[in-house]
Amino acid sequence: MPYIYDDQNIFAKILRGEIPCNKVLETEHALAFSDIAPKAPHHVLVIPKGPYVCHDHFALDATDTEIVDFTRTIGRICAQLGVTPGADGAGYRLISNAGNDGVQEVPHLHVHILAGRNIGPMVMARD
Ligand code: AMP
Repeated sequence: MPYIYDDQNIFAKILRGEIPCNKVLETEHALAFSDIAPKAPHHVLVIPKGPYVCHDHFALDATDTEIVDFTRTIGRICAQLGVTPGADGAGYRLISNAGNDGVQEVPHLHVHILAGRNIGPMVMARD
């Protein structure tokens, strides 16, 4: 099934400079900025600049160059935030929501980097 990208989504508007963001890092193919409603002391969103809806879309259709740049950008931000797991027990959680069941609000691929406190259980249990 083809992926349908809505270029009016809020992250597309950020990429076009139509609305501001609190930029953390920018590369040729990726942009990282602070989440507007942080759920942890560090809450950074990393997005590719290309029009990809979700992670599987990106993984299947992006170029190797885009994938490497995006993945490295996540690593660089973890290093920049100083949250790389180590002897001090720090760490972080990556989340990438997709589609309705994944409860994705913004239909442009983004990875949440959450850090700065214990992030808690992976998901809430439901019956
Ligand atoms: P998701 O549910 O994974 O699609 O998450 C979307 C995230 O985008 C949420 O955590 C929002 O707080 C965040 N968000 C929405 N609008 C903006 C914005 N203008 N700047 C930064 N983050 C935003």
